[in-house]
Amino acid sequence: GIVSNGSASDPAPPHDTFDTILVLDFGSQYTHLITRRLRELNVYSEMLPCTQKLADLSWKPKGIILSGGPYSVYAPDAPHVDPEVFKLDVPILGICYGLQEIAWHHGKNVLAGEKREYGHAALNIHPHGNSKQAHVSRLFEGLPDDMDVWMSHGDKLSRMPNGFATIATSTHSPYAGIAHEEKEYYGIQFHPEVTHTPKGGVVIKNFAVNICRAQQNWTMEAFKDKEIMRIRKLVGEKGQVIGAVSGGVDSTVAAKLMHEAIGDRFHAVMVDNGVLRKDEAKQVKKTLTEGLGVNLTVVDASERFLSLLKGVSDPEKKRKIIGNTFIDIFEEEAKKIAQKAENTPKAGKIEYFLQGTLYPDVIESISFKGPSVTIKTHHNVGGLPEKMNLKLIEPLRELFKDEVRKMGVDLGIPAHLVGRHPFPGPGLAIRIIGDVTLEKIRIVQEADSIFIEEIRKAGLYDEISQAFAALMAGRSVGVVGDNRLHGYIIALRAVVTTDFMTADAYEFDSAFRKRVAGRIGNEVQGVVRVLYEETSKPPSTIEFE
Ligand code: GLN
Repeated sequence: GIVSNGSASDPAPPHDTFDTILVLDFGSQYTHLITRRLRELNVYSEMLPCTQKLADLSWKPKGIILSGGPYSVYAPDAPHVDPEVFKLDVPILGICYGLQEIAWHHGKNVLAGEKREYGHAALNIHPHGNSKQAHVSRLFEGLPDDMDVWMSHGDKLSRMPNGFATIATSTHSPYAGIAHEEKEYYGIQFHPEVTHTPKGGVVIKNFAVNICRAQQNWTMEAFKDKEIMRIRKLVGEKGQVIGAVSGGVDSTVAAKLMHEAIGDRFHAVMVDNGVLRKDEAKQVKKTLTEGLGVNLTVVDASERFLSLLKGVSDPEKKRKIIGNTFIDIFEEEAKKIAQKAENTPKAGKIEYFLQGTLYPDVIESISFKGPSVTIKTHHNVGGLPEKMNLKLIEPLRELFKDEVRKMGVDLGIPAHLVGRHPFPGPGLAIRIIGDVTLEKIRIVQEADSIFIEEIRKAGLYDEISQAFAALMAGRSVGVVGDNRLHGYIIALRAVVTTDFMTADAYEFDSAFRKRVAGRIGNEVQGVVRVLYEETSKPPSTIEFE
């Protein structure tokens, strides 16, 4: 969930310090990819909904990209861009719906095509088109005359918009690429941001770097230093910040960044809820305090969590118990820390709560959901900051996950931590189907640890997005020594995904599978059967509960 730390109080947001390409979102599922592709070129980019009023924007973009979208520009309730965009005197690139929107603005010649064009298409580039203007050829500079592109549209331009030249065609799209004769406006019917358009990156680079002249200075090194300065200004000379850490990438990077900025005036709290991975609390303490110098308090609350979880098998109830207990414990601990901290002579009050919000969460909360959808309000996980009357500080809210990882490396966080698979907040409680007992926790911890150890040994850890062991409900029969044992069933799951919205099972070879199953069966007391779970998401989810 998102609550912005506010542009008004924000001393130096990145769009003030880095050249920024503004991506206006018309609701395409690919819009965030445009922003990512730009960032990969070290050009800073931010996304805003297509309904953004330019008068409300406090900064000036170097260029604007209008995204694709599911609507038809000629429909009565179709979303349209603020016409001020065309008065801003910056280059504009329209992609798919964006192209159609530019055409609509320049003469309204867009209508439904006879056929949807979906999938690969051959693009023929005519760099200069029928124009004598030099700038029109810049969008396709360095590209071959024919290239493979990805199309996904049903509408088309019925004729050339006023003042434009054709710079590309395809069999079904006579206006697959257009450029304005006087202004730096470009439109393309295909999607350069998807990997199905192999040379799409060149088109985006040509627009951002050659046409908009955006500097390619968006590096994590540069951002890190500016962010540290920003945090110092925001928090002030005495201000203090508290935040929860879990051992995951985001909270570790955020904690280290806070420590670099304000030293021990950042208080990290780790709550051991008893359903962490094997030795996790110990390891996190070691890395954060000894390794990274972060001021950390570990609260061992495992007994309190486990007694509340006793006999509970409904997954939603388990989640609620863990979430609420976490909030209670964090708040109790925060009070103790505040009392101590505020009694030290040079320090002020704890005013801020650190939250490791990432840019995809921000995108999710601002992306255009269509004319009929009311934008839902977002809440913080558990509402902790409001409850404790703390302001939010979110140093990662402009970053994608891979950028967070890069920054982690720059901050000296060990590689195995920076590349770590995600781990759910309710921990092993949702990887144990049914009620949670100490014995089941031990079994799932040990099985998981063997699985991950073997994955690392085989050099597969970074190829896999998330891997773990889960404990199934019920028991099964096995033989141990000469005795029949009514034991537990372990399921192993490993998935590959880019965004965790969809996922595929990772395919291990059979030698690997046998080795891991054998080790778990032999080494983890109480396990009689090991299964591999290979359903994709959808219809399945990544976690079991
Ligand atoms: N709805 C428009 C069309 O079908 C735009 C599609 C898109 O932007 N992908 O042509």
